[in-house]
Amino acid sequence: MKRILYPAFVFALAASVGGCSLFGSWGGPKRAAWRSQAENACLSSGAVRPSAVVRPIGEVDGPGACGADRPFKVSALGRETPIPLNEQTAMNCPLVAATDNWLERVVQPAAEAFFGQPVVEVQHMGTYSCRRIAGSRYMSEHAYMNAIDVSGFKLADGRTVRVKTGWRSADASEASFLRAVGGSACDDFTTVLGPGSGAAHQDHLHLDLARHSKGRRVCRGGDEPVPEGGRLLSFFKDDTIFKDDQLDRTGSIPGDGDDEIRDPEEGIYDK
Ligand SMILES: [Zn+2]
Repeated sequence: MKRILYPAFVFALAASVGGCSLFGSWGGPKRAAWRSQAENACLSSGAVRPSAVVRPIGEVDGPGACGADRPFKVSALGRETPIPLNEQTAMNCPLVAATDNWLERVVQPAAEAFFGQPVVEVQHMGTYSCRRIAGSRYMSEHAYMNAIDVSGFKLADGRTVRVKTGWRSADASEASFLRAVGGSACDDFTTVLGPGSGAAHQDHLHLDLARHSKGRRVCRGGDEPVPEGGRLLSFFKDDTIFKDDQLDRTGSIPGDGDDEIRDPEEGIYDK
Protein backbone atom coordinates (compact mmCIF):
# COMPACT_ATOMS: atom_id res chain seq x y z
CA MET A 1 0.00 0.00 0.00
CA LYS A 2 2.79 2.37 0.91
CA ARG A 3 4.53 1.68 -2.38
CA ILE A 4 1.42 2.81 -4.23
CA LEU A 5 0.77 5.92 -2.16
CA TYR A 6 4.36 7.13 -2.06
CA PRO A 7 4.56 8.48 -5.62
CA ALA A 8 1.21 10.22 -5.19
CA PHE A 9 2.43 11.83 -1.98
CA VAL A 10 5.64 13.01 -3.65
CA PHE A 11 3.66 14.44 -6.53
CA ALA A 12 1.29 16.28 -4.21
CA LEU A 13 4.20 17.69 -2.22
CA ALA A 14 6.00 18.80 -5.38
CA ALA A 15 2.87 20.41 -6.73
CA SER A 16 2.24 22.34 -3.54
CA VAL A 17 5.85 23.50 -3.22
CA GLY A 18 6.10 24.34 -6.90
CA GLY A 19 2.73 26.00 -6.95
CA CYS A 20 4.15 29.43 -6.37
CA SER A 21 6.15 29.38 -9.54
CA LEU A 22 4.09 27.12 -11.75
CA PHE A 23 0.50 28.05 -11.15
CA GLY A 24 -1.76 30.87 -10.20
CA SER A 25 -1.06 34.55 -10.53
CA TRP A 26 2.62 34.12 -9.59
CA GLY A 27 3.22 32.04 -12.67
CA GLY A 28 1.30 34.19 -15.15
CA PRO A 29 2.90 36.01 -18.04
CA LYS A 30 5.69 38.34 -17.04
CA ARG A 31 6.64 41.70 -18.43
CA ALA A 32 9.80 41.57 -20.48
CA ALA A 33 12.96 42.48 -18.58
CA TRP A 34 13.72 45.43 -20.84
CA ARG A 35 10.63 47.22 -19.57
CA SER A 36 11.93 47.36 -15.99
CA GLN A 37 15.36 48.31 -17.26
CA ALA A 38 13.92 51.17 -19.30
CA GLU A 39 11.93 52.43 -16.32
CA ASN A 40 14.93 52.25 -14.00
CA ALA A 41 17.26 53.95 -16.49
CA CYS A 42 14.70 56.71 -16.99
CA LEU A 43 14.26 57.24 -13.25
CA SER A 44 17.99 57.31 -12.53
CA SER A 45 18.59 59.76 -15.38
CA GLY A 46 16.50 62.35 -13.56
CA ALA A 47 14.51 62.98 -16.75
CA VAL A 48 11.28 62.64 -14.76
CA ARG A 49 10.99 64.01 -11.26
CA PRO A 50 7.99 63.45 -9.01
CA SER A 51 5.86 66.57 -8.55
CA ALA A 52 2.30 67.60 -7.86
CA VAL A 53 1.45 66.84 -11.50
CA VAL A 54 3.61 63.70 -11.89
CA ARG A 55 2.90 61.51 -8.87
CA PRO A 56 4.38 58.02 -8.29
CA ILE A 57 1.60 55.48 -7.77
CA GLY A 58 3.57 52.31 -7.03
CA GLU A 59 3.72 49.11 -9.02
CA VAL A 60 0.74 48.07 -11.07
CA ASP A 61 1.13 44.33 -11.61
CA GLY A 62 -1.43 42.54 -13.70
CA PRO A 63 -3.76 41.27 -14.80
CA GLY A 64 -1.36 39.06 -16.69
CA ALA A 65 1.78 40.88 -17.79
CA CYS A 66 0.00 44.24 -17.79
CA GLY A 67 1.21 47.16 -15.73
CA ALA A 68 4.50 48.85 -14.90
CA ASP A 69 6.99 48.67 -12.04
CA ARG A 70 7.16 52.32 -11.09
CA PRO A 71 4.44 54.25 -12.91
CA PHE A 72 3.12 57.77 -12.38
CA LYS A 73 -0.28 59.38 -12.33
CA VAL A 74 0.17 62.35 -14.60
CA SER A 75 -2.02 65.44 -14.89
CA ALA A 76 0.34 67.73 -16.83
CA LEU A 77 3.27 67.17 -19.18
CA GLY A 78 6.20 69.24 -20.43
CA ARG A 79 9.54 70.06 -18.87
CA GLU A 80 9.71 73.82 -18.53
CA THR A 81 6.06 74.75 -18.32
CA PRO A 82 3.87 71.69 -17.78
CA ILE A 83 0.81 71.62 -20.02
CA PRO A 84 -2.31 70.20 -18.33
CA LEU A 85 -3.87 67.05 -19.75
CA ASN A 86 -7.62 66.94 -20.36
CA GLU A 87 -7.66 63.96 -17.99
CA GLN A 88 -5.03 62.58 -15.61
CA THR A 89 -3.64 59.23 -16.62
CA ALA A 90 -1.10 56.52 -15.76
CA MET A 91 2.21 56.54 -17.61
CA ASN A 92 5.57 54.86 -17.18
CA CYS A 93 8.71 56.97 -16.81
CA PRO A 94 10.00 56.61 -20.40
CA LEU A 95 6.60 57.65 -21.77
CA VAL A 96 6.51 60.73 -19.55
CA ALA A 97 10.06 61.67 -20.60
CA ALA A 98 9.42 61.15 -24.32
CA THR A 99 6.17 63.10 -24.24
CA ASP A 100 7.81 65.90 -22.25
CA ASN A 101 10.53 66.11 -24.90
CA TRP A 102 8.07 66.07 -27.78
CA LEU A 103 5.90 68.80 -26.29
CA GLU A 104 8.88 70.99 -25.49
CA ARG A 105 10.91 70.37 -28.62
CA VAL A 106 8.18 70.13 -31.25
CA VAL A 107 4.63 70.86 -30.19
CA GLN A 108 5.05 74.24 -28.49
CA PRO A 109 7.39 75.67 -31.15
CA ALA A 110 5.02 74.41 -33.88
CA ALA A 111 2.02 75.96 -32.12
CA GLU A 112 3.84 79.29 -31.95
CA ALA A 113 4.88 78.97 -35.59
CA PHE A 114 1.48 78.05 -36.98
CA PHE A 115 -0.88 79.81 -34.58
CA GLY A 116 1.24 82.40 -32.79
CA GLN A 117 0.24 81.02 -29.39
CA PRO A 118 1.03 78.08 -27.12
CA VAL A 119 -0.86 74.88 -26.43
CA VAL A 120 -2.51 75.12 -23.00
CA GLU A 121 -4.04 71.63 -22.84
CA VAL A 122 -3.06 68.31 -24.37
CA GLN A 123 -6.05 66.13 -25.12
CA HIS A 124 -5.60 62.38 -25.08
CA MET A 125 -7.80 59.30 -25.34
CA GLY A 126 -5.87 57.14 -22.93
CA THR A 127 -2.53 55.64 -22.02
CA TYR A 128 -3.21 52.51 -19.98
CA SER A 129 -5.41 49.69 -21.19
CA CYS A 130 -4.67 46.04 -20.46
CA ARG A 131 -5.42 44.61 -23.88
CA ARG A 132 -4.04 43.14 -27.05
CA ILE A 133 -3.65 45.13 -30.24
CA ALA A 134 -7.08 44.92 -31.88
CA GLY A 135 -7.18 42.00 -34.29
CA SER A 136 -3.80 40.74 -33.11
CA ARG A 137 -2.33 38.24 -30.69
CA TYR A 138 0.22 40.76 -29.48
CA MET A 139 -0.23 42.92 -26.43
CA SER A 140 -0.63 46.62 -27.01
CA GLU A 141 1.97 48.99 -25.60
CA HIS A 142 -1.01 50.53 -23.82
CA ALA A 143 -0.98 47.42 -21.61
CA TYR A 144 2.30 48.66 -20.12
CA MET A 145 1.50 52.39 -19.82
CA ASN A 146 3.99 52.79 -22.64
CA ALA A 147 1.70 54.48 -25.21
CA ILE A 148 -0.45 57.59 -25.46
CA ASP A 149 -3.23 58.43 -27.91
CA VAL A 150 -3.16 62.18 -28.50
CA SER A 151 -6.39 63.48 -29.96
CA GLY A 152 -5.98 67.25 -29.88
CA PHE A 153 -4.40 70.44 -28.61
CA LYS A 154 -6.21 73.31 -26.97
CA LEU A 155 -4.62 76.67 -27.77
CA ALA A 156 -4.37 79.71 -25.51
CA ASP A 157 -7.28 81.44 -27.26
CA GLY A 158 -9.57 78.50 -26.50
CA ARG A 159 -9.52 76.98 -29.97
CA THR A 160 -8.91 73.24 -30.12
CA VAL A 161 -7.00 71.62 -32.97
CA ARG A 162 -8.30 68.08 -33.26
CA VAL A 163 -6.66 65.23 -35.16
CA LYS A 164 -10.09 64.04 -36.27
CA THR A 165 -11.09 67.25 -38.01
CA GLY A 166 -7.77 69.04 -38.43
CA TRP A 167 -5.75 66.39 -40.27
CA ARG A 168 -7.64 66.93 -43.50
CA SER A 169 -8.94 70.37 -42.66
CA ALA A 170 -9.21 73.04 -45.33
CA ASP A 171 -7.44 75.20 -42.75
CA ALA A 172 -3.85 74.66 -43.88
CA SER A 173 -2.43 75.76 -40.54
CA GLU A 174 -4.24 72.97 -38.69
CA ALA A 175 -3.28 70.28 -41.19
CA SER A 176 0.32 71.49 -41.32
CA PHE A 177 0.61 71.77 -37.55
CA LEU A 178 -0.69 68.24 -37.01
CA ARG A 179 1.59 66.79 -39.67
CA ALA A 180 4.55 68.66 -38.21
CA VAL A 181 3.96 67.38 -34.69
CA GLY A 182 3.11 63.87 -35.93
CA GLY A 183 6.10 63.65 -38.24
CA SER A 184 8.57 64.95 -35.70
CA ALA A 185 7.24 62.60 -33.02
CA CYS A 186 9.27 59.88 -34.75
CA ASP A 187 12.33 61.36 -33.07
CA ASP A 188 10.93 60.91 -29.57
CA PHE A 189 8.86 57.74 -29.95
CA THR A 190 9.53 54.40 -31.63
CA THR A 191 6.00 54.02 -33.00
CA VAL A 192 3.93 56.86 -34.44
CA LEU A 193 0.65 56.11 -36.16
CA GLY A 194 -1.53 58.87 -37.56
CA PRO A 195 -4.76 59.08 -39.53
CA GLY A 196 -3.16 57.84 -42.75
CA SER A 197 -2.10 54.56 -41.15
CA GLY A 198 -5.58 53.10 -41.03
CA ALA A 199 -9.15 53.42 -39.89
CA ALA A 200 -8.20 52.91 -36.24
CA HIS A 201 -6.21 56.15 -36.07
CA GLN A 202 -8.50 58.68 -37.70
CA ASP A 203 -8.96 60.67 -34.54
CA HIS A 204 -5.62 60.43 -32.77
CA LEU A 205 -1.87 60.05 -33.00
CA HIS A 206 -0.79 56.82 -31.37
CA LEU A 207 2.67 57.34 -29.84
CA ASP A 208 4.53 54.54 -28.11
CA LEU A 209 7.95 53.30 -27.06
CA ALA A 210 7.77 49.69 -28.24
CA ARG A 211 11.12 48.01 -28.74
CA HIS A 212 11.18 47.13 -32.41
CA SER A 213 13.67 44.92 -34.16
CA LYS A 214 17.14 46.38 -34.71
CA GLY A 215 16.22 49.62 -33.03
CA ARG A 216 13.93 50.52 -35.92
CA ARG A 217 11.03 52.92 -35.66
CA VAL A 218 7.58 52.53 -37.13
CA CYS A 219 6.28 55.90 -38.20
CA ARG A 220 3.26 56.10 -40.42
CA GLY A 221 0.90 58.89 -41.08
CA GLY A 222 -0.49 57.93 -44.42
CA ASP A 223 -0.30 58.97 -48.02
CA GLU A 224 -1.57 62.50 -47.82
CA PRO A 225 0.35 65.12 -49.82
CA VAL A 226 2.96 66.98 -47.84
CA PRO A 227 1.51 70.34 -46.86
CA GLU A 228 3.57 73.42 -47.51
CA GLY A 229 5.57 74.29 -44.44
CA GLY A 230 4.99 70.85 -42.96
CA ARG A 231 7.84 68.65 -41.76
CA LEU A 232 6.30 65.50 -43.06
CA LEU A 233 9.20 63.79 -44.75
CA SER A 234 10.44 61.95 -41.69
CA PHE A 235 6.94 60.60 -41.25
CA PHE A 236 7.19 58.66 -44.49
CA LYS A 237 10.82 57.73 -44.82
CA ASP A 238 11.14 54.58 -46.82
CA ASP A 239 13.29 53.04 -44.15
CA THR A 240 10.46 53.12 -41.70
CA ILE A 241 8.52 50.69 -43.87
CA PHE A 242 9.96 47.24 -43.66
CA LYS A 243 8.96 43.71 -44.40
CA ASP A 244 8.32 40.63 -42.34
CA ASP A 245 11.60 38.98 -43.26
CA GLN A 246 13.56 41.90 -41.83
CA LEU A 247 12.13 41.33 -38.40
CA ASP A 248 13.73 39.44 -35.59
CA ARG A 249 11.51 37.46 -33.35
CA THR A 250 12.47 36.57 -29.85
CA GLY A 251 10.99 33.74 -27.90
CA SER A 252 7.96 34.33 -25.75
CA ILE A 253 4.55 32.90 -25.17
CA PRO A 254 2.53 34.03 -28.17
CA GLY A 255 -0.14 36.44 -27.12
CA ASP A 256 0.88 36.37 -23.47
CA GLY A 257 4.53 37.25 -23.17
CA ASP A 258 5.32 40.74 -24.25
CA ASP A 259 8.89 40.61 -25.39
CA GLU A 260 8.21 39.37 -28.87
CA ILE A 261 9.12 41.86 -31.55
CA ARG A 262 5.96 42.80 -33.32
CA ASP A 263 5.25 43.02 -36.98
CA PRO A 264 4.90 46.71 -37.76
CA GLU A 265 2.28 45.81 -40.34
CA GLU A 266 0.08 45.52 -37.31
CA GLY A 267 0.20 49.27 -37.20
CA ILE A 268 -2.87 49.15 -39.39
CA TYR A 269 -4.78 47.98 -36.35
CA ASP A 270 -5.71 49.95 -33.31
CA LYS A 271 -2.62 49.93 -31.17
ZN1 LIG B 1 -2.92 53.90 -29.05
